[in-house]
Amino acid sequence: FPVDKIRNFSIIAHIDHGKSTLADRLLEMTGAIAKTDRNKQVLDKLQVERERGITVKAQTASLFYKHEGQTYLLNLIDTPGHVDFSYEVSRSISACQGVLLIVDANEGIQAQTVANFYLAFEAQLSIIPVINKIDLKNADPDRVEKQIETMFDIPSEECIRISAKLGINVDRVLQEVVKRIPPPTAKLEEPFKALVFDSTFDHYRGVVANIALFSGQVCKGDKIVSAHLGKTYEVNELGVLRPDEHPTERLYAGQVGYVIAGMKEVKDAQIGDTFYHQKQPVEPLPGFKPAKSMVFAGIYPTDQSEYPSLRSAVEKLTLNDSSVMVQRDSSMALGAGWRLGFLGLLHMEVFNQRLEQEYNASVIVTAPTVPYKAVLSSPKLIKEYGQEVITIVNPTQFPEKSCVVEYQEPMIDFLLNGKPVEELTTIVHKDQAYNTGKAMCVKLKESIPRQMFEIAVQAAIGSKVIARETIKAYRKNVLAKCYGGDITRKMKLLKKQAEGKKKMRRIGNIDVPKDAFINVLKRK
Ligand code: GDP
Ligand code: MG
Repeated sequence: FPVDKIRNFSIIAHIDHGKSTLADRLLEMTGAIAKTDRNKQVLDKLQVERERGITVKAQTASLFYKHEGQTYLLNLIDTPGHVDFSYEVSRSISACQGVLLIVDANEGIQAQTVANFYLAFEAQLSIIPVINKIDLKNADPDRVEKQIETMFDIPSEECIRISAKLGINVDRVLQEVVKRIPPPTAKLEEPFKALVFDSTFDHYRGVVANIALFSGQVCKGDKIVSAHLGKTYEVNELGVLRPDEHPTERLYAGQVGYVIAGMKEVKDAQIGDTFYHQKQPVEPLPGFKPAKSMVFAGIYPTDQSEYPSLRSAVEKLTLNDSSVMVQRDSSMALGAGWRLGFLGLLHMEVFNQRLEQEYNASVIVTAPTVPYKAVLSSPKLIKEYGQEVITIVNPTQFPEKSCVVEYQEPMIDFLLNGKPVEELTTIVHKDQAYNTGKAMCVKLKESIPRQMFEIAVQAAIGSKVIARETIKAYRKNVLAKCYGGDITRKMKLLKKQAEGKKKMRRIGNIDVPKDAFINVLKRK
């Protein structure tokens, strides 16, 4: 395909401003998908994405578009829509020459609009502002145009007003993509060089890496190398995405497509890495950063008998997400589990939601923490750890609790009738210790049902109790309401009670519902 007829672009937007809806319209208009309701948001494949309206994994589609008697190849690169994934966004964007910057005609510019604008601006891309949802009653496109002019210095004449939902003016968007976005400066005669901007794991074929070819060409059987990992692979299959995979013989400079090359896990095709031919090494593309975990949390099966199935679910999900760090862990109260590292809180929530929805797993997640650097002061500890500064991702792993108490950030323990619930152990700044301790005690009190005896809920720093709530004993028996009368009602109540019990976890002699952990841990 002639390079001058290729356009590589992304759609960037704040969440809910209509990126997926516009992508669907573009796919329909270019015949990549049929116009039916069932095809809603084909680029957001995962159930989590449909529910939360965020794109977790970038998905891509090559579209053919006829304009003034010419056929163009438009490569639409879908980007993840949240700040946790901004590195992935920046890599997707670096595979493009232009972006559609969508702004909701009612809400105007929002935080992610600004962040995404700067990613595109720094990459020196053509930016086409698109004002979406002009059909809304409260739409104020004039105001949004002025905002765009003031904040981004883009003349208001350059804005396109559309309704992605109703399809109004969407054809104009395609015309402007062709007119305003330059073709890639790809050199066919130079050695093969491609950017990995996404990768997914396929159970049967291994890793599918999405690549943008900056120069040269690649075909089946070629030996390729990943520049940063330095591993060599043989290409088994390659092709274009429409948005489903269509195998082809070759991919050429300027094109966007996929390769399957016997990679076993997504870590083999890290986002931002460069592929080249084994015999023709090239300078890797700039901007590569290995994924770095920022938030850590423990994950445990609600029921230990589900450990094997949860293990397989965690393995499968992490095969598909190289940014999750996995470490085995175990806890007194929760049994065997893992300590996982995520890019951010949303990333963590999405991961948990996927575990529950796609693998039907029932999990307990402990308080998210950030990594801590601890400076050891006792010579004994320095000797034990072999270094003076250690990084700790799990609060319960601090060498000695007293090490911590003197710090700016003390550790709070939570106790139920004197028994520590170590999953809730939290590190906070000392100014917030009292408030956090109090708030978590109140939440615990609200989430633990009354039992046959009184329960003291305490927050403590070391041996000093900083907050206390009391859960009063529960007086009436569940069956007291039945007056010995209606037997079916009695059975129903017993069944309900038994089901409730299943979701409980015992700490000491106290039954704590799984929800209690989640309610308390979700305090943010
Ligand atoms: P994304 O998060 O940017 O991908 O946004 P979506 O495409 O998922 O859209 C978010 C919501 O806005 C959905 O409920 C869409 O139906 C709705 N929406 C998208 N475009 C329009 C539009 O042009 N008009 C109206 N009224 N609603 C729209
Ligand atoms: Mg979306």
